Amino acid sequence: MYDVKSKKATEFIDDGEIQATLQYAIEHKADFPLIDQILEKAATYKGLSHREAMVLLECEDPAYIEKIFQLAMEIKQRNYGNRIVMFAPLYLSNYCVNGCRYCPYHAKNKHIARRQLSQEEIVQEVLALQDMGHKRLALETGEDPVRCPIDYVLESIKTIYSIKHKNGAIRRVNVNIAATTVENYRKLKEAGIGTYILFQETYNKEAYEYLHPTGPKSDYAYHTEAMDRAMEGGIDDVGCGVLFGLNLYKYDFVGLLIHAEHLEAVYNCGPHTISVPRICPADDIDPAEYSNAISDEIFEKIVAVLRVAVPYTGMIISTRESQRSREKVLRLGVSQISGASRTSVGGYAEGAPEEDSSQFEVSDNRTLDEVVNWLLELGYIPSFCTACYREGRTGDRFMSLVKTGQIANCCQPNALMTLKEYLEDYASPDTKAKGEAMIQQTIPLIPNEKVRRLTLEHLKAMEQEGVRDFRF
Ligand code: SF4
Ligand code: SF4
Repeated sequence: MYDVKSKKATEFIDDGEIQATLQYAIEHKADFPLIDQILEKAATYKGLSHREAMVLLECEDPAYIEKIFQLAMEIKQRNYGNRIVMFAPLYLSNYCVNGCRYCPYHAKNKHIARRQLSQEEIVQEVLALQDMGHKRLALETGEDPVRCPIDYVLESIKTIYSIKHKNGAIRRVNVNIAATTVENYRKLKEAGIGTYILFQETYNKEAYEYLHPTGPKSDYAYHTEAMDRAMEGGIDDVGCGVLFGLNLYKYDFVGLLIHAEHLEAVYNCGPHTISVPRICPADDIDPAEYSNAISDEIFEKIVAVLRVAVPYTGMIISTRESQRSREKVLRLGVSQISGASRTSVGGYAEGAPEEDSSQFEVSDNRTLDEVVNWLLELGYIPSFCTACYREGRTGDRFMSLVKTGQIANCCQPNALMTLKEYLEDYASPDTKAKGEAMIQQTIPLIPNEKVRRLTLEHLKAMEQEGVRDFRF
């Protein structure tokens, strides 16, 4: 029985409610008066219910799809402006006791190189990342309670935050590790993590159990209730996602929205981010075996409808996607992207070939400078901002700032100041010229006079006195 406030996985992700929603959407996909009403509601930036969102996703009328895309772009612009936040994944360990069928780190894969970084090796990785200009990381590990216990993760976080190299620093560590206990989530919170990220992979219980035949992750309820435990452990910024292509995308789309509604109903705080990965090639994984793989067109529609339905949530896309695909979805709602990613353990420092231990093949292989340059060309402000959680803007406090559109007042100047740091310390001459031009043309657009004046002062101090890490 569907109960948005239940803490039981099969009640807040209720199969009956998802099936009824899919049926409702089919019946109303050409109900244009209803679709007009849904779009009017979405235009007030208040978001949509999963049923309303599914009607939009099901709609096949080209003129209405274009309206949805336009609205998605408008909402994105209002909430986030034209900044795109940059991050990089850091793989610490690929030992894994689980049997996930779609991931080459599954326990039975005997020919992939297994590695776990020592603290000294982590230092080398972080130095390489800092030398590129990164300020925000997402830690990734396989699940192995013996080889990769929580204490190892906590020690690694401490190591990462302690490294100050030239003008560099990692200022926000997000963590993507297996579902764990309330006590461990509390420890992660105390270690100063940003967002706790955990992909559901698929919300369909039957498909989930087929895809996860062995290991602790095979427990659907324990995995699905992980965000509740994270919230109970004090982590109020959580990141959700599904791996599109594992199961029927419409089912997972509804599941994702129902999960967001559950978190909001129970904790007054929906997901801080939603990631939209698609299944892609990897060692011993062939996406052709997954008949549910989705086309670029459907992928774009998913991103646009998510943007319209959950306007307060940051949306993340990784280097699994090609440059072309990334370019399209940036317009439609994605607000955070990875750059120059290595998806192997030890991939950033020398001596760890990607093919030996990577989790998936990267489609976008450009350097960070090339990605920053490309974003500037497209008219975006690449941002290395990490201000919110450092200023205590997390959880429901953060949500209310996004819902009212006020966060853009912080995002825009912070984007300019962190871009300036990047230009001063890491950029190629061409990127620097483009970045400076972007800063000059954007400063007059900062609406608040005081913020504008302070931004100018900080930019000057960075350039002339070498000061770093200003933020609003
Ligand atoms: S998806 Fe995660 S849990 Fe599953 S095999 Fe890969 S690393 Fe292990
Ligand atoms: S101000 Fe907050 S929401 Fe905006 S980019 Fe910085 S950390 Fe993200």
